[in-house]
Amino acid sequence: MYLHGTSQINGQGRLQIGGCDTTELAARFGTPLYVMDEALIRQRCREFVDAFRESGLRFQVAYASKAFCVMAMCRIVEEEGLSLDVVSEGELHTALQAGFPPERIHFHGNNKTPDEIRMALDAGIGCFVVDNFVELHLLNALAGEKGQAAKVLFRITPGVEAHTHDYISTGQEDSKFGFDLGNGSAYRVIEEASRLPYIDVLGVHSHIGSQIFEVEGFKMAVEKVIGFAVKVRAELNVTFRVVNLGGGFGIRYVEGDTPLPIKEYIKAITEDISSYFSRHDYPIPEIWVEPGRSIVGDAGTTLYTIGTFKDIPGVRKYVAVDGGMTDNPRPALYESKYEAMLANRASEPNEETVSIAGKCCESGDMLIWDVELPRAESGDLLAVSCTGAYNYAMASNYNRIRRPAVVFVKDGQADVVVKRESLGDVVGNDVVPDRLRKPEAARTV
Ligand SMILES: *Cc1c(COP(=O)(O)O)cnc(C)c1O
Repeated sequence: MYLHGTSQINGQGRLQIGGCDTTELAARFGTPLYVMDEALIRQRCREFVDAFRESGLRFQVAYASKAFCVMAMCRIVEEEGLSLDVVSEGELHTALQAGFPPERIHFHGNNKTPDEIRMALDAGIGCFVVDNFVELHLLNALAGEKGQAAKVLFRITPGVEAHTHDYISTGQEDSKFGFDLGNGSAYRVIEEASRLPYIDVLGVHSHIGSQIFEVEGFKMAVEKVIGFAVKVRAELNVTFRVVNLGGGFGIRYVEGDTPLPIKEYIKAITEDISSYFSRHDYPIPEIWVEPGRSIVGDAGTTLYTIGTFKDIPGVRKYVAVDGGMTDNPRPALYESKYEAMLANRASEPNEETVSIAGKCCESGDMLIWDVELPRAESGDLLAVSCTGAYNYAMASNYNRIRRPAVVFVKDGQADVVVKRESLGDVVGNDVVPDRLRKPEAARTV
């Protein structure tokens, strides 16, 4: 397993993260346990900010909180000077409860409800990323009720789609998100918005994909967005003050993943921007990006206790852990790949190839197919790396499995930032109607 951030093998031959021995973390907090390397999260935040500072452009780096949205994370994001993207009332509530400055919150989503829009207007958030015509008119009406114009970016689909090494340029994009550049709907929404009294058009937003390892897609998007900006100014007399280029910067999950250093992505995005805009005598807008995975992904490690085995001679050996698709649905959803090691025997040589199974009642509940490990025994501690993004965020209670705790580790200190769910939490929202209530006398407990 590749050792990210502060992860290292300590003198006892155990995996240590943030100066904390993982066997001690497991004993203290139980397993499964999400362990987040706080120093690495902060380092990633700073890499984005530093790269933009170098560019000399005005900027905002907005952490896409959907990757991992808890109050302690919002505190770190604020301390590091980033902005924050939310896509639901739940994420917005989390940020506000953490005291995150509302003017640095951006609200995304293709179906924001009237209640969510009201909540965001009441909070005074910095920007709505408007996705469709229904939302535009709803927002105009609700902002009108408050008598204050809402700041707006329009999500456009620039006809560039990027995923890992592939990027494609498409004429018209078949996507549930945003206004298409190619078919003119992006143009029409700006035209329409410029006539609405309670819509303040800041600019446009484009997000071309996720886990991207190349810069070409971003460069293509920049070019298309700028061409659009120039046309819109000339024909509609609307000048963009903000251009948001989204997230999607890749990380290394497994060997063979080849992400670029963060500064390379930002350099590619920013290097041509000044000259492009200047060429058209266009005031250079503020440039925003929205990294999620690349801020928290490689900072997370999940610790599991190994329980049972099933060895099918000549076929494969299954090693089962005390979690699975409930704490990490990504392998089942996307066939995502992960690396692992025995955290309590981290310096022992690998001896066998096994597959890591979860404990849910689904054959598809597999965390890793074919991973090299020392000969594992019941009670050994398995560490799976790169679980910081879209793991806790996507965790479920399937099979009524309790969601794990999350701890932040830094300089030898470990702090719980999300408590492990209790059995009380499991039934906490259950209601037994009177007509189904078991008579008191018949109760066995
Ligand atoms: C998901 C998403 C992001 C973050 O993507 P990452 O791959 O985690 O960086 C940013 N912006 C938008 C609009 C998104 O949907």
